Amino acid sequence: MTVASASNPLSKGDHALKIVDDVASAIGQQDPPGGNIEGYGPVGQNVVYLEKGTNYSRTGPHELGHSSGLAHIKDLMETLPSGKTRPYTTDSFPGNLMHQSQDMNSQGQPAAGYSIESFQVKEMYRLYKAGALNRGRQQ
Ligand SMILES: [Zn+2]
Repeated sequence: MTVASASNPLSKGDHALKIVDDVASAIGQQDPPGGNIEGYGPVGQNVVYLEKGTNYSRTGPHELGHSSGLAHIKDLMETLPSGKTRPYTTDSFPGNLMHQSQDMNSQGQPAAGYSIESFQVKEMYRLYKAGALNRGRQQ
């Protein structure tokens, strides 16, 4: 890991973590009412935005998860043995990296952590093999 500069520019395969004062304005969005966008990792791109002062050790890997094609747990669907589907919740996969920092489980405890599941590793690998990742945009 190095700091990019005029004398050490990014090369096409590099991944960039940009630390900015305000992620929302850096990506042309607005913070949600009562909330704050702490990070942004566009799928398949090589740049991740982190807000100055955020929890870099968790938000950084979380956003890299997004840029590697992973969605928030609560945005995924679970397939039941009957074949029906239902959304996962903040009670699913306690301590998973892809819960949002502000997600609380039904017991009122933080849902987020650092773990990932084998299905998430397989999804990143599937997208990598399909050429959907590391597409080189770093702006
Ligand atoms: Zn996220």
